[in-house]
Amino acid sequence: MNNLCPQHGVVIGGGLAGLAAAEALLNERPKHAGADSAGPRRVTLIEATGRVGGVVATIRRDGWLIERSADSFLAARPEAVALVERVGLAGELIGVDPRVRRALILHHGRAQPVPAGFRLIAPGLAKSILTTPLLSPVGRLRLLCERFVPARSRDVADESLERFAVRRLGREAFERLVQPLAAGIWTADPARLSMAAACPEFFAMEVRDGSLWAGERKRVRAVMEATQAAGARYGQFLTLASGMETLPQRLADQLQSRGVQFITASATGVRQRPDHVWEVSLRGAGNDAAAAATSLPATIEADAVIVAVPSIKAAELLRPCDPTLATALAAIEYAGSAIVSLGFAREDVAHPLDAAGLVVPRREGRRILAISFSSQKFPGRAPAGSVLVRTFVGGALDPETATLDDESLLPLVLAELRDVLGVRGAPQIVQIDRWLGAMPQYTLGHADRVENIQRLVAGHRGLALAGAAYEGVGIPQVIASGQAAAASLRLP
Ligand SMILES: Cc1cc2nc3c(=O)[nH]c(=O)nc-3n(C[C@H](O)[C@H](O)[C@H](O)COP(=O)(O)OP(=O)(O)OC[C@H]3O[C@@H](n4cnc5c(N)ncnc54)[C@H](O)[C@@H]3O)c2cc1C
Repeated sequence: MNNLCPQHGVVIGGGLAGLAAAEALLNERPKHAGADSAGPRRVTLIEATGRVGGVVATIRRDGWLIERSADSFLAARPEAVALVERVGLAGELIGVDPRVRRALILHHGRAQPVPAGFRLIAPGLAKSILTTPLLSPVGRLRLLCERFVPARSRDVADESLERFAVRRLGREAFERLVQPLAAGIWTADPARLSMAAACPEFFAMEVRDGSLWAGERKRVRAVMEATQAAGARYGQFLTLASGMETLPQRLADQLQSRGVQFITASATGVRQRPDHVWEVSLRGAGNDAAAAATSLPATIEADAVIVAVPSIKAAELLRPCDPTLATALAAIEYAGSAIVSLGFAREDVAHPLDAAGLVVPRREGRRILAISFSSQKFPGRAPAGSVLVRTFVGGALDPETATLDDESLLPLVLAELRDVLGVRGAPQIVQIDRWLGAMPQYTLGHADRVENIQRLVAGHRGLALAGAAYEGVGIPQVIASGQAAAASLRLP
């Protein structure tokens, strides 16, 4: 079957990266077209599941709203907010309830607040460090001395989060503050997590400003000045009132109405013919009876292809076309986690839930990594008189727990919630989601690996990659990756 059409772009993967790529492709005017050329180019999006959003998924049931993965995004980068506004969802944006804008850390079994101003690795206010029960007097002093620790040489291109944090803040601050806060974000092994790829802002701060303390003060001042000048539009973390999945769904609806063709099929291979036309082969196509009934083509031809699937899958798709590229893609590791979302009657939870959530240091010897107090963060997540908490388990350092079956996982989580939050009674709702192999790990050397991948991709005219595997796992970065992929294509 010949689907070749001039200016035909195919996107593989209907997660946020793929959808953002499809939108950007549609908006790109063909290079040879005049200012008043008729209409946009043709864009096709192939998604295996028949549902857009990828890992972003929301369940709404009996007054509960449960995010199965991402529950919010950072407002500091513009891409996600801009997309929300573009698709007409600005009125749905909500920030974290100001009454709970703080995080707790478990320490000797008790929940204690993160010292005011402490941001992941950057020391906060001296007063709050001097008084935090999370650190010993020696640990506090060591953290306060961060400003006197000499900056690393500019020649050091990468360092693990653990090495960096221990060097700058001391081992105690690493174990009691940085490790649990980082685990709540990346579920990674901090001894292997790359500063250059996962925390470039903090990594650059040390060399640019001499210390994290100085760099963070500068950043806070700049944010305050900007806020005073422009007025605070949004809080730090945002979500949508009707749930995160509304964003990909709305974007897909708009793309469809603008002519993007959505195909439900698994791409099984991508290759470029000698005449430079790309061919994407589809599973369930050709001789398959079901596919034949829906007239699914065996292959789709295109001028350009954006592969917006996890890198581990991109490697499989691209191996026939470029084995070296496939090997480089396969070198990016993935880890998994599980989220156990539980709803309780408010009176069945003793803890005041007066924070956005709680993270658990490894040294506490528990199986849970973090708990998000979902119904306290955002309105409309639980029926009146009830609360919703989401508990994270697994990650790179404890992969087995995420793979436990429901019968083992639920009692384990309930027992820990009983200890940590004083939960009594049976949950009113249970939702367990496993995200096995869904979290790309930016291990040491990741930035170099991505640079090499980009160099190899640049050797193929009309090919681009997008997604969480490369330059940021957060939703704004993933949207940016789709847009950058579309912009990088050199279409005729
Ligand atoms: C548990 C969890 C919690 C998270 N929490 C947050 C958060 O709170 N805030 C935040 O900013 N980020 C969060 N993230 C990260 C963020 O949600 C993801 O990085 C981002 O959504 C990934 O988007 P993507 O398009 O790159 O990939 P995906 O969402 O994985 O989409 C890829 C798509 O490709 C499809 N596909 C795969 N193979 C094929 C094929 N062969 N043919 C056709 N289609 C295929 C898949 O079905 C899928 O729909 C979280 C991630 C996880 C897993």
